[in-house]
Amino acid sequence: MIPLRPMIAGNWKMNGVEASLLEARAIASWLDAHPVGARVALCPPATLIDRMAQTMAGTGVEVGGQDCSPDASGAFTGDVSAAMLVDAGARLVILGHSERRQGHGERNADVAAKVKVAIAVGLEPIVCVGESLEERRSGRAIGVVSGQIRGSLPEALQGRVFSVAYEPVWAIGSGLTPSRAEIEAVHEAIRSALRDKFGETGDGAPILYGGSVKGDNAGDILHAREVGGALVGGASLSAGSFTAILAAV
Ligand code: PEP
Repeated sequence: MIPLRPMIAGNWKMNGVEASLLEARAIASWLDAHPVGARVALCPPATLIDRMAQTMAGTGVEVGGQDCSPDASGAFTGDVSAAMLVDAGARLVILGHSERRQGHGERNADVAAKVKVAIAVGLEPIVCVGESLEERRSGRAIGVVSGQIRGSLPEALQGRVFSVAYEPVWAIGSGLTPSRAEIEAVHEAIRSALRDKFGETGDGAPILYGGSVKGDNAGDILHAREVGGALVGGASLSAGSFTAILAAV
């Protein structure tokens, strides 16, 4: 299988109101003037997806959600279904982010259930995995991440377009990043787990790196072996810092 195009995706988390669309517009204008060899996506909070999708229509920026319910509809106060994300204009969805795994008790099986409902309505999942600081310090990073790949990616992904984001929990929002060799070691282990599980499909899926990616470290990270793009939190909130990352592709 031909490897899919790399992707740089911004995760706005619980940030973003109408005025923030100015940043999205500035990112789209920059991209128009400086085409890059990667797909570019922004994942705003659910309340902004509709407006961002309308604003980004016809630009090079794709729009995604940050989570979805594992259920199709019903009495789940506050939840947003995969079909609702599609209805609002999302084409991608981040699933299994560590802030969902840790703050909302999501286990691998919960993430896999969400992936299934997402692909059933045509959303392209970005499935996040990553070890805690304690897991890394005790030499268990690769084991933990490989287990998350096996448990969070359902068989239903066979033949589908999806990506994985390796996000060490301790690197998110901390300004810390693993060394290039550490990133490559985990990405190679993820590739091998994807191949074992999905064969050719697992060969093509981009493996994004996420965790304190900024303009000044993006070039080194994005050119590391088996790195197929980046999932960017804080630095995706402003056009200046996000386009500095895009410029490094
Ligand atoms: C994230 O939370 O997905 C992330 C990568 O955050 P940051 O870039 O801010 O570390």
